[in-house]
Amino acid sequence: MTTTTTTTRVGFLGLGIMGNAMARALARGGCDVVAWNRSADKARACLEAFENEDRATEHANGSMTLASSVEEIASGDVDVTFAMLSDPMAAMAVARAYAEGASRASGTRKKTYVDCSTVDGACGEATREILGEHVSFLAAPVSGGWRDAAKGELLFIGGGSREAYDASAAHMEIMGAKRWLVGDTPTHAARAKLMLQIMMGNVIGALGEMHGLSQRAGLDSDAILEMLSHSAMGSPLTTAKGKLMSSKNFAPNFQVYLQQKDLRLALNLADELDYAAPITAATNAQYVKAKGLGYANSDFAAVAAAYTDEKKE
Ligand code: NAP
Repeated sequence: MTTTTTTTRVGFLGLGIMGNAMARALARGGCDVVAWNRSADKARACLEAFENEDRATEHANGSMTLASSVEEIASGDVDVTFAMLSDPMAAMAVARAYAEGASRASGTRKKTYVDCSTVDGACGEATREILGEHVSFLAAPVSGGWRDAAKGELLFIGGGSREAYDASAAHMEIMGAKRWLVGDTPTHAARAKLMLQIMMGNVIGALGEMHGLSQRAGLDSDAILEMLSHSAMGSPLTTAKGKLMSSKNFAPNFQVYLQQKDLRLALNLADELDYAAPITAATNAQYVKAKGLGYANSDFAAVAAAYTDEKKE
């Protein structure tokens, strides 16, 4: 991949588990990041982590400052802004605030908005509409978790204008190992990302089912997980999530409510296209059940609890 030059000043909206890691990766990688989060405590925590951990231990070439609103970033001198938000409602609410701010910007340079949230095609198209023709938009959902973001190993699945893709390429290069422009609409990217989420949700759902049944059958479930990890069916993901199921350590990396949102969006798509997706439908019900048992904000490995009817303590 060719190295592209970076516009150093970059906006970042949404500092949850992923946004925190991505914004810090950009700042470590030489960007001057202007960051915002709806809840101010998470924004302060992100800044403190950058100052106290990244700057103290690594050669952080960039900087991080906090903005008090989305509009402040949109109306200021930041050309490229990334967003990383929970779901379609959040993504559209923040895009509206950005469009409002951008309409007050004084410069003549076209701004670029890159939404990395996992959403559906309808949300991507609505976001493009909200931003209007004066902002160039790229939907760029990512595959990989916060550890991958920290290591600069995310996969970016871009859909939208080539102009926006090129304008944000250097930033994606800092945060990611690979990137694709899969089509010229946000829908292309949203749908491609949902395909990966079907696999992830179902694989971990099946792992939870196997884990619960091996316990019910009186087997040594840790030994079964060990066999799985050496078998053709095992993967780094099943090994990592198997350990979490075994230890019941459900501290969130990727939360149950988000994986369930992804399965819901994928099922909506299947429905729209008259496509039966029975495996995903069954697995989705288990994620819904896990939410009901109190695990909405737990790591999605907690779907295992839905198979054993264990409420969160
Ligand atoms: P998260 O930790 O729950 O963060 C969600 C973010 O969305 C927070 O910054 C939250 O702000 C913000 N938000 C929610 N509703 C909002 C609203 N109405 N207005 C403004 N901001 C709002 O989730 P995450 O794990 O970072 O995931 C973010 C996105 O990346 C999701 O679409 C997820 O599916 C996707 N993703 C996650 C992973 C992963 O491993 N975690 C990997 C790939 C993709 P507050 O702090 O104020 O609540």
